[in-house]
Amino acid sequence: MTRLFPILVTGGAGFIGSHACKALSLAGYLPVTVDNLSTGHADAVKWGPFVNADVRDQSALGETIREHGIKAVMHFAASAYVGESVDRPVFYYDNNAGGMISLINACVGTGIEQIVLSSSCATYGTPADCPIRENTPQAPINPYGRSKLMCEEMLRDCSAAHGLRFAALRYFNAAGADPEGELCERHDPETHLLPLALQAASGQRGPLQVFGTDYPTRDGSCERDYIHVSDLARGHVLAAGYLAAGGPSTALNLGSGTGHTVFEVLAAIQRVTGAPVPHKQARRRPGDPPSLTADATLASETLGFRTERSGLEQIISDAAPSFGLADARKARDGRHAAE
Ligand code: UDP
Repeated sequence: MTRLFPILVTGGAGFIGSHACKALSLAGYLPVTVDNLSTGHADAVKWGPFVNADVRDQSALGETIREHGIKAVMHFAASAYVGESVDRPVFYYDNNAGGMISLINACVGTGIEQIVLSSSCATYGTPADCPIRENTPQAPINPYGRSKLMCEEMLRDCSAAHGLRFAALRYFNAAGADPEGELCERHDPETHLLPLALQAASGQRGPLQVFGTDYPTRDGSCERDYIHVSDLARGHVLAAGYLAAGGPSTALNLGSGTGHTVFEVLAAIQRVTGAPVPHKQARRRPGDPPSLTADATLASETLGFRTERSGLEQIISDAAPSFGLADARKARDGRHAAE
């Protein structure tokens, strides 16, 4: 029997981490999740062993690495609410930068040399130009973005000092859900546009607030680059394979390359589900750049990465069932086929 390649996934019970575990398992890896369940869900860990531990617990990491014969690491465990990071900066530096220190120490202590890091377009801050390339200056504007930049910088220094190799994946807006319905997006509190808008459309909450309608964009609302979580997960698997094949340390944008404004997202939800999204205009949310879109050329050249499900309507169609909504277009097509 061939032995699966065991890979440590910190934060494997979270939204992106759990989708990555599924993608890893399909690609022949054994994902070993370490998660403290502070925001993740135990029932999302389905494709490998689960260790309930905090990523800052270096000895738990070391034990897990030794027990499972871990060969490489994917690091998702982190706090990821921009607004919360402004209110609780020390917590963010402790959990995100502190978690990175603990993980690097555990890797150096056990001889692990390959790390895929969950980084973020928040490390770019408010860029002068879009689409954003990897050589765009990194100038984060909130503690969350700064904590992710610190992680990248620590890895850069440790790759020089200890021979670690890393792939820092700077994602744009992760959205959607597992197309087979095995996983979905469940944040508490929820702050992200797509789930909030789907909840408003299905009547699970009141009108969505559109944060800012006076931005210098097509329709005044903020523009973001939404990437399907399953595409993101596949990008991580490709990055793990790239490092395993000896690829040098790198930082790559993972995005669709296409921007959509808040109003465009609301219109797409109505097109896909048939349900209008009740909404009202609200003041700008502090810390929101007007427009963030990725130039994803380097990930394509380096990893052969291409998005497959990141069209906005596809993202909405895959996410809708977990909010009690259906893709009304499929029902219509089904009716036509039956006629
Ligand atoms: N947004 C909004 N209303 C909400 C939540 C988000 O208008 O209730 C906007 C937000 O201002 C941003 C976009 O939707 O322009 C995406 O926000 P999200 O929090 O999903 O992701 P972020 O880009 O902050 O990582």
